[in-house]
Amino acid sequence: MQTNLADFIKNTAEGQEADAILRSCVHCGFCTATCPTYQLLGDELDGPRGRIYLMKQVLEGKEATRKTQLHLDRCLTCRNCESTCPSGVQYGRLVDIGRGLVEKQVRRPLSERIVRSVLKEALPRKWLFTPAMKAGQLMRPLLPKVLQNKVPVAHDAGIWPRRQHARKMLLLDGCVQPAMSPNINSATARVLDALDVQLVVAPKAGCCGAIRHHLNDHQGGMDDARRNIDAWWPYVEAGAEAIVMTASGCGSMVKDYGHLLAHDAAYAERAARISAMTRDLSEIMPAFEDELVGKLKEKISKRVAYHPPCTLQHGQQIRGKVEGLLRAVGVDVKLCADSHLCCGSAGTYSVLQAELSYQLRDNKLKNLQATEPEMIVSANIGCLTHLQSGTETPVRHWIELIDQAL
Ligand code: SF4
Ligand code: SF4
Repeated sequence: MQTNLADFIKNTAEGQEADAILRSCVHCGFCTATCPTYQLLGDELDGPRGRIYLMKQVLEGKEATRKTQLHLDRCLTCRNCESTCPSGVQYGRLVDIGRGLVEKQVRRPLSERIVRSVLKEALPRKWLFTPAMKAGQLMRPLLPKVLQNKVPVAHDAGIWPRRQHARKMLLLDGCVQPAMSPNINSATARVLDALDVQLVVAPKAGCCGAIRHHLNDHQGGMDDARRNIDAWWPYVEAGAEAIVMTASGCGSMVKDYGHLLAHDAAYAERAARISAMTRDLSEIMPAFEDELVGKLKEKISKRVAYHPPCTLQHGQQIRGKVEGLLRAVGVDVKLCADSHLCCGSAGTYSVLQAELSYQLRDNKLKNLQATEPEMIVSANIGCLTHLQSGTETPVRHWIELIDQAL
């Protein structure tokens, strides 16, 4: 695609990156067919090719409008289009840049600004979010359905193992996950402990930065990233083998630190190292498969439907690992029809674009239920909570299934 970027952006790092991405798009439209919002709305401007065109116009100097902002807001950032694109167009990076520019040009109505500020300020702060979630869980039966959907039933975290091991890995505790589903990280620690690996949480690490970054507060997102790098670095120097992610949304973000901080002289090198040693839990576990199978008292005979989060299958391009591991331990695991499509959770999307989000959830649950599962498993806290809000079938992180069996 030919481009002619406007003076205000063409000589900046972002402008040059956006220009290279735009030029790699040949406008073939293959991506449109697999875009969830295009499938629902049938409007070219609610598909990747149309959005790329809108962003090109803004980058070339045409003033963005509320309509431009709306079409970009409706994008889930699921990056399904990246998986489909034969030309390797990095849509996710482009939409980050495009949204940032539009945000500066188009002032949102007051109500939107308030909601986005609350999400951006409250979710990443554990000291604020955890007590709020606990209060919500206590009052859950009294809450209106719209809030119940966001407040999962409280689960006990169980015991965090205290044994010391020579092999150590860092774990990103995260921000909302420990409050919403504390069993996920403790189950991970117990499973790895049984395999003689110690999981260590750096006390000063926190939100990965994805929440602020995807709400167009790029500076705030990078502040979170720098804080985490500072918190993890002493453990990296002391020999931690990897940084383990139990939420694929966070993993996708941390794997991007190297790229996002490439122009920050004080952090670029460490950010690249941190990204390089970051692993989704499903990348860690296959190396332990034989040992794990040997430790199980009996195989896990359960019928399970697996929903691969977009941040895992499209963002990190990791496919087949969770299913492979679950099959090895005896689980009858199935992918549903259209398993490449987003469940509608997409970070804060389920709050900001609720109607589309719940349509996608219901479509996803219909397909998952068609496999007649006893349990639905996934790998990202957002997907787990969103799917559970629409079904009585238990929805869990896949590591909880393995922890139970051990
Ligand atoms: S993003 Fe890729 S698939 Fe979509 S129109 Fe451009 S080149 Fe084609
Ligand atoms: S990221 Fe997802 S919703 Fe956004 S354009 Fe790509 S496929 Fe469509």
